[in-house]
Amino acid sequence: MLLRAHCVYPVVGLPIEDGYVRIIDGQIVDVGLWSECVDRNEYQDLGEVLLMPGLVNAHCHLEYTNLAGAIPPPESFTEWIQAIIEKKAGIDDSSFRQSWLEGARQALAYGTTTIGNIDTRCDMLPSLWELTPLRIVSFIESILFENDRDASEFVGKLKEWLSENKPPHGKIGVSPHAPYTTKPDFLQECGVLLNIPMTMHIAESSEENQMFRDGRGDMWEMFCETGRDVSDCGGRSPLDGAIEAGLLDKQMLLVHGNYLDSHDIAAIAKSKTNVVHCPRSHDYFRHRVFPAHDMKYSGVNLCLGTDSLATMRDSESKLELFSEMRLFRDNNPGWSSSNIIEMVTINPAKALGMEGEIGCLNTGAKADLIGLPFDTTINSVEEMIIEHRGPVELVMVEGQSFNEVNRASCI
Ligand SMILES: [Zn+2]
Repeated sequence: MLLRAHCVYPVVGLPIEDGYVRIIDGQIVDVGLWSECVDRNEYQDLGEVLLMPGLVNAHCHLEYTNLAGAIPPPESFTEWIQAIIEKKAGIDDSSFRQSWLEGARQALAYGTTTIGNIDTRCDMLPSLWELTPLRIVSFIESILFENDRDASEFVGKLKEWLSENKPPHGKIGVSPHAPYTTKPDFLQECGVLLNIPMTMHIAESSEENQMFRDGRGDMWEMFCETGRDVSDCGGRSPLDGAIEAGLLDKQMLLVHGNYLDSHDIAAIAKSKTNVVHCPRSHDYFRHRVFPAHDMKYSGVNLCLGTDSLATMRDSESKLELFSEMRLFRDNNPGWSSSNIIEMVTINPAKALGMEGEIGCLNTGAKADLIGLPFDTTINSVEEMIIEHRGPVELVMVEGQSFNEVNRASCI
């Protein structure tokens, strides 16, 4: 397959005006200038289109897609936890499936071809994977904080499931949920799950920060009431448990990190751990300013994610990364557009262990591509990408196009 477009933006190189991408067996074999393209038999001219790699969403909860606007911005994070627990209790299996699949469809329609998703239903997951062409890294959410539950038995069962199940286009991973929902011996057990992508919500809220640093506050009280042993709280960072369990490394994606301090950031940078920032979710909770600048200059691999539609101020929000890029740009003046685009392409590709395979148009990469309308009123290609609104014109995963599906169902 040979595609010609007004502009080809490989991300790993400068935009190519009047460029082409050649695909064989779902893989990119060549990218370049149309004028230098040999063997032009049977090509498809996409016309006024900007062709670029499919976007990579490093953090999402597909299952909450139908909860867009269902929980108004709360007064506190603990209030939100209680609200989401109540909402989840009212969701039956069929609504769960529908919401998860709608999220996957929406992500693709709006230009995301790979997603790092938090998955909670191992019983349904294999059948859901089969129903979407989206490339998925499914992180199995693992919560264990009760004193009387056996951590090694839990991890043993998890390991067994992980060895038997894998998404057709992606990978399987684990998500020890967050410091407050995981007890220390459980985190230690997770530390022996080697060579597997991991993700963990960390230092998301001021209540979590207070629970671990000061050993008090609303979240601390809430978990005391559940009988959680809180002897790991007070005088330490929310990150310390993960550090002690040896969980910080290049396969770990720490999500949020709004309340990390300079010591935490130094430890993250040193261990080559990745961080995922979710701008719209951050705005919904009105967290303190995200330390993007400190992370960048410490050398942290920073990615963007959507989190779920349950944490969006606008109930019409979609599961897409263009709005995340725009909000990040508005909150972080001085960042270059190309650096922002890297946070939804090559940075998350690296974090998910797929560097060179996705997030770039390069020889040898998977043919995961999207096409945006080429807007002649914007001079910079990078700005054009960040300013894009609405579904994309073309979506391809491993050389397979899904245009018709998207157009028919998302307008
Ligand atoms: Zn999340």
